[in-house]
Amino acid sequence: MPGPVRGSNAAHMAGPLQNSGWDRYFMSMHLDLHIHTTAYSRCSKLTPDAMAIAAKRAGLDGVCVTEHNRIWKEREARALEDKHGIAIFRGMEVTTTGGDIIVFGLEEEPRQMWIPAMPNVKADAGWPHISEQPLYPLTPMLLKAKVDAVRGVAIAAHPFRRFRVFGVGELPVSLAEATSRTTLAHVHGIEVHNSMDTSQENDLALKVADAMGLLKCGGSDAHTDTAVGACVTRFDEWIHDERELVEAILGGRFIISSMSQ
Ligand SMILES: [Zn+2]
Ligand SMILES: [Zn+2]
Repeated sequence: MPGPVRGSNAAHMAGPLQNSGWDRYFMSMHLDLHIHTTAYSRCSKLTPDAMAIAAKRAGLDGVCVTEHNRIWKEREARALEDKHGIAIFRGMEVTTTGGDIIVFGLEEEPRQMWIPAMPNVKADAGWPHISEQPLYPLTPMLLKAKVDAVRGVAIAAHPFRRFRVFGVGELPVSLAEATSRTTLAHVHGIEVHNSMDTSQENDLALKVADAMGLLKCGGSDAHTDTAVGACVTRFDEWIHDERELVEAILGGRFIISSMSQ
């Protein structure tokens, strides 16, 4: 990717302060915002313990677990946090009719949104795997309404990955066509760096984010331990919980980069 990318034009605080009781509140925090584990994502080979170990090895201060359509329980996150001494934030990667959307701040899972319409389906009857077979008409617009109602944040994941399917050397889409995707009208930001995407896909996403004034986000989308930390988001403040994470993202108070930069 072409160097660190600022989330938006928000003001940044001074660098880390040393030797101060307040340094925890002024130091920067490095997170990976997009990771799947075996806890709830069947497609992942990464156990929660392996994720925590890999994250510490990569120099991260914390990770965001973003399982497909499932959110970790609070106690699960705290237990892993205590065990490994690394911050664990809970989000979801929600399957919608307009593609995958990462959300933070939203506790309600898609299966809960649609259970009333499907009285014969029990909450735990196989739903962890719905990402592979979306059976519900969850649109980006509805998801955004849910997210906004709790003042969360919605980020389009790998927004142009679908073009890789066709194996094209050049993305067959103009910037105008790309920005007209309906999904992009119902998110606060988009991933301009997803480590599982090609540089062409990420570059197009960056152009689209610039053109539309969307927050420029990123994540590793790790499903294995070697991918954890492949894309790092730096916050120039210490994030204590998902509420602060949402506020920092919505405020654009972050920069994405790889750890090697
Ligand atoms: Zn995805
Ligand atoms: Zn993902």
